[in-house]
Amino acid sequence: MTDTQTALATRHVPEGLPSRIQHYIDGEFVDSADGDTFDVLDPVTNETYVQAAAGKKADIDRAVAAARRAFTEGPWPRMLPRERSRVLHRIADIVESRDARLAELESFDSGLPITQALGQARRAAENFRFFADLIVAQADDAYKVPGRQMNYVNRKPIGVAGLITPWNTPFMLESWKLGPALATGNTVVLKPAEFTPLSASLWAGIFEEAGLPKGVFNLVNGLGEDAGDALVKHPDVPLISFTGESRTGQIIFGNAAPFLKGLSMELGGKSPAVVFADADLDAAIDATIFGVFSLNGERCTAGSRILVERPIYDEFVKRYAAQADRVVVGYPHDPKTEVGALVHPEHYDKVVSYIEIGKSEARLVAGGDRPDGFETGNFVRPTVFADVAPDARIFQEEIFGPVVAITPFDTDEEALELANGVRYGLAAYVWTNDLKRAHNFSQAIEAGMVWLNSNNVRDLRTPFGGVKASGLGHEGGYRSIDFYTDQQAVHITLGPAHNPTFGKADPH
Ligand code: NAD
Repeated sequence: MTDTQTALATRHVPEGLPSRIQHYIDGEFVDSADGDTFDVLDPVTNETYVQAAAGKKADIDRAVAAARRAFTEGPWPRMLPRERSRVLHRIADIVESRDARLAELESFDSGLPITQALGQARRAAENFRFFADLIVAQADDAYKVPGRQMNYVNRKPIGVAGLITPWNTPFMLESWKLGPALATGNTVVLKPAEFTPLSASLWAGIFEEAGLPKGVFNLVNGLGEDAGDALVKHPDVPLISFTGESRTGQIIFGNAAPFLKGLSMELGGKSPAVVFADADLDAAIDATIFGVFSLNGERCTAGSRILVERPIYDEFVKRYAAQADRVVVGYPHDPKTEVGALVHPEHYDKVVSYIEIGKSEARLVAGGDRPDGFETGNFVRPTVFADVAPDARIFQEEIFGPVVAITPFDTDEEALELANGVRYGLAAYVWTNDLKRAHNFSQAIEAGMVWLNSNNVRDLRTPFGGVKASGLGHEGGYRSIDFYTDQQAVHITLGPAHNPTFGKADPH
């Protein structure tokens, strides 16, 4: 037996995989109107394991019509927040009770390590629970106005929300949009990523069981340029929440402009982790290793550029490379695996091409090739480049894989210039024990989110989003409620009306 065969023998294929993946429209699983399908690949072998329905405009039209009907005629938008909250809590209960199965399927479809997929499934339940609580806690705003008047704000669901999601942690990211969109009484059409459609169809059964009325949740699979494009251009979809690449965000922005749609854009990143010489080096190394290699490096907030102050630079690079070498690459289903298989051969080719570019631009100190024993599938060793110049492509461009660029700096000013010297501004990580420097630096950094001596931990109440090419608007906590609701201002007089009396004066 060759190494590959040994390795393949330990590969895991979940039982009970569907024979095909369909759309879910108006409470029914259906094929595409034209019968078209696309291949879905197993990232460990790159063989097609299932066909998914390839939605087009006709399927989007059908899904939007169902969602629109559920919005204008159905009970969901008219329910009290506490009634919707109960349904959302039931959804969270069901997701929690099936977390192992969800993780198994997600790990198989996306190549994510099973332990990390399990964490993401639990986070999906948490997202629903969070918004279930938030809508009942939401206090309506009312203002007393001089002259015995009062104004209040009536939060209304907007209509059919179009949700377009990427392939990294797909189930969790879908929950991040579905939770608040549904909590606030909208109906939805979800267009999940074509690389990883498996887990999205599980929502249908979960929602049915939890008692979500028919037509409130609709799902159309398909390619971005077909199904995604049709959803963005549909006149009955007044808002689009999109997570994906900045380039796609630009296209969607343009296509939504003629309709003046509400847009939320969570886009790409090339986030810096800045390590000052006074930092706790052990903690900084552990966190920056995790920050770029967890979730296979397919993480929007990955700290994929590490800027290190010169006095500790050599030691940092040496220790970092040694630890990166010890990160366990393996089959997604193996609980020991820390980096699994990249999602798709197209993405694998992109990551590998950046590694080749990096070899000509900088000093390779770890990885740079396939792990031994994995001749097939999208496996790549955690890869570390040192002495990366700020104009290098691996410094400037989002790779979205287990590849990191390390660059030295001498002064705070230079660190800031390097940190801000890219088109993205999603996250930043700062490692220093100097309190003033930490706060001054984080205020000057161009990033939507900053972690000080901390690793990617956040409370769901805090806003999530980026600046520059990393996004538009924020979701999270009340920001999500604001995005998914119209805030209608109502003005009433409580006492006698004090109307200006235009036209009543005696002209003589
Ligand atoms: P992508 O932009 O290729 O695709 C995202 C989604 O958009 C998919 O469902 C795709 O089918 C759809 N799409 C593509 N073209 C479209 C079009 N013309 N009209 C409408 N929809 C279209 O992104 P991806 O490769 O799936 O995801 C990776 C990217 O997502 C990375 O850049 C990553 O940083 C980003 N991301 C950002 C966040 C965040 O919160 N900022 C979170 C996760 C991922």
